[in-house]
Amino acid sequence: MKKVSKDKIMINDKKALYDKAIRLSQICNACRYCEGFCAVFPAMEKRRDFDIKDMDYLANLCHQCGECLYACQYAPPHEFDITVARDFSAVRKESYKKFTTLKFLSSAFEKAGLVTAVLLLIVLAVFIGITSGSFNKDVSGNFYEVTSYNTMVSLFGIFALITLIVVVISCVKFARSIGFSGVRFIDWMSALKDALTLKNLGGHDYEGCTFPNGENRSNLRRYFHHFTFYGFLLCFIATCLAAFYDHILNYHAPYPFLSAPKLFGTIGGISLLIGCAGLFVLKLKADPELLDVKSLNVDYALIFMLFLSALTGLLLMLLRTTPVLSYILVLHLSTILSFFIIVPYSKMMHLFYRYLALVKNARECRLNTHN
Ligand code: SF4
Ligand code: SF4
Repeated sequence: MKKVSKDKIMINDKKALYDKAIRLSQICNACRYCEGFCAVFPAMEKRRDFDIKDMDYLANLCHQCGECLYACQYAPPHEFDITVARDFSAVRKESYKKFTTLKFLSSAFEKAGLVTAVLLLIVLAVFIGITSGSFNKDVSGNFYEVTSYNTMVSLFGIFALITLIVVVISCVKFARSIGFSGVRFIDWMSALKDALTLKNLGGHDYEGCTFPNGENRSNLRRYFHHFTFYGFLLCFIATCLAAFYDHILNYHAPYPFLSAPKLFGTIGGISLLIGCAGLFVLKLKADPELLDVKSLNVDYALIFMLFLSALTGLLLMLLRTTPVLSYILVLHLSTILSFFIIVPYSKMMHLFYRYLALVKNARECRLNTHN
């Protein structure tokens, strides 16, 4: 029997995925029953024909609430097999792979759990190698006794810069592909407002969306996203403030509990833990009809990394003056550095692509056309 190459199977799978998404968009565009549910259906209605680029845009505009699944007369077991939430979830992951900057690393999206775990172990081994001399000595709460200032700054500086460049290039590729002509400043601002308030996750009138299983409307998913996003932001601000205190003001850690870096870090870390735990539980409870099983590992890998970052950060603060400081610091630094490295090959790209899809949508709504 003739052997079909793995590459050919992948190309066929990808084509089948986009063909199905295009077919369902054509059916939805004729049906139009769900036009008031979210931003996706009005965006579909601005088009007569659909291509792969439209699918990347519409899939990243969809927030997988599932409302259209529960309303659809053509959902399984109907032969049309319309499952917009699930199919768009699969297309979203395909878009992360397609627009990634170093293409050979795009398979990280397929094996997100494994890649994340291996990366974390490698980085952990490197940090243990660098800091092993500090494990048995009294470091008196001083991070730089565990790993030098220069090591920290150079490692994090280099990888943060590489990650930033890779993310920006991927975003430019995505924006160019879905089409950004005619986008104005007002569209960026309008999308920013939608993103910061998570307007689309609020349902029709902020009564919530139908995720995870369509039984009741709830704002829980929106709140957990808020906890995660703003928690992450507060932790980032705490790190910047600590660096500012240390390098500019020459005021070195440990800081008192009521200092700005500690307050931002504590509130941010706790928020991040709540958000990640909540999103994890909601995902577990989600209706299987809403989920693309092959995309779940990407979701769980990101939740795990964010949760571990927050947990080790909080432990670091609580246990700073104890003998376990060196161990916790090594685990925390390894988690954060692994997170930095994996960002362009993780579900974090959802943050950027979704925002860009919202910007394009704001432009389409302003001009009432997709051209
Ligand atoms: S999801 Fe179903 S009900 Fe909704 S627009 Fe599409 S075909 Fe119509
Ligand atoms: S799953 Fe929700 S956001 Fe996605 S197309 Fe359906 S109604 Fe819209």
